[in-house]
Amino acid sequence: MSESLFAEARQRLDLALKHVKISEDAVEQLKYPKASLQVSVPVRMDDGSLQVFQGYRVRYDNTRGPTKGGIRYHPNVSMDEVQSLAFWMTFKCAVLDLPFGGAKGGITIDPKQLSKFELERLSRGYIDAIADFIGPDVDIPAPDVQTNQIIMGWMMDQYSIIQRKITPAVITGKPLTMGGSTGRETATGMGAYFAIETIMPKFQAVRESTTVAVQGFGNVGAVVADLLCQAGYRVVAVSDSKGGIYAKQGLDIPSIRSYKNSTRDFRAVYCEGTVCNIVEHEIITNEQLLALDVDILIPGALENQITENNAHNIRAKYIFEIANGPVTPAADRILEDKGIRVFPDILVNAGGVTVSYFEWVQNRSGLYWSLDEVNSRLKHKMVEETERIWAIAERESISMRTAAYVHALNRIGEAIDAKGTRDYYISQ
Ligand code: NAD
Repeated sequence: MSESLFAEARQRLDLALKHVKISEDAVEQLKYPKASLQVSVPVRMDDGSLQVFQGYRVRYDNTRGPTKGGIRYHPNVSMDEVQSLAFWMTFKCAVLDLPFGGAKGGITIDPKQLSKFELERLSRGYIDAIADFIGPDVDIPAPDVQTNQIIMGWMMDQYSIIQRKITPAVITGKPLTMGGSTGRETATGMGAYFAIETIMPKFQAVRESTTVAVQGFGNVGAVVADLLCQAGYRVVAVSDSKGGIYAKQGLDIPSIRSYKNSTRDFRAVYCEGTVCNIVEHEIITNEQLLALDVDILIPGALENQITENNAHNIRAKYIFEIANGPVTPAADRILEDKGIRVFPDILVNAGGVTVSYFEWVQNRSGLYWSLDEVNSRLKHKMVEETERIWAIAERESISMRTAAYVHALNRIGEAIDAKGTRDYYISQ
């Protein structure tokens, strides 16, 4: 991870500032994180040895409410990365008008190297280390790359042990039986699907002739690929960290998902019942997937996938970012020159934090909603905010990314200014 990820993230803010009227005070406040914490987490390993892991949590801005953001387990996790992701979360929560600021956390670890026992001890140890930094009214974590429901459950349990009271609202993305929300697991992919379905008719796209490639077949990528495939889009390529599969005629994503879930094997298959047959396909690299001649490209793995080095090769017409930060600012400029429309992460993948918000609301009220209610509230929010950002982009003739930042900045700026600006204090 480059040291400059945060500097790059801030470039987006600078671009948007040219199109908003917010006070100097608000700009000054948004330049720095509210609070950052680095912790060492000692873990007794299964072989009896002790290993110490580095963990982070950053609360970026809490003007609009307690901060909110996921916890990532990955070897590349650093303070720079966590701070950048916390910065993005601040804008993402404002884009969707959620009463939250932005935060993020993580541990520098490849979780695949740990046993389940070690993973539980690490997750509980991390909560021990950051317990004073989080809370239902302070900062509310959630899952991110390589963390999941069961880890959120351990973390909620550990926080409740420390507080001596069951505190489900401290963390979202929990198992349903521990206060999780219906629809949380599919929320990010489904939110992205609603954004795509709101945007594509504006370009007179017909689903059946719209081709799609998805990089990353995890929590988010697999769900959006599945929803698009079932809606009639032609999903021609998907990939994971080992590489991708491509079939010109389109892939049967529900079959690939169920085959992967039951065998852990990632292959182009078509299944009828429990019988799956391999279909004709090509094996491609992730670089080749990104450069495919498709209508829609969906980067859904990690950040910095489309950079100044490969942006020239991109042939897709529309890019919907479901990973956080997959396109660098330098690549943005190249794509814009090529006429490729980029729909930004802080809008497209905001379905996850939106249903996390619904989970927090349900935990605090003690009243739980049906899947239909969760999904219809999610659809309403995604469609409404996508339309608003589209209108700003059209009105100002700016990219959807800058329009999303403008939209968020207006909301955050108003909240900061509500406490008083320089003009308020010096005018008599
Ligand atoms: P995940 O760990 O479930 O899946 C990640 C997928 O990407 C896996 O299939 C992995 O094999 C693949 N991958 C990893 N490195 C790759 C590479 N170099 N090339 C191609 N594929 C690669 O994670 P996730 O929860 O699906 O998150 C994916 C992205 O979406 C991240 O950027 C995350 O921050 C973002 N996101 C996730 C959520 C959520 O609710 N899970 C919400 C908002 C944003």
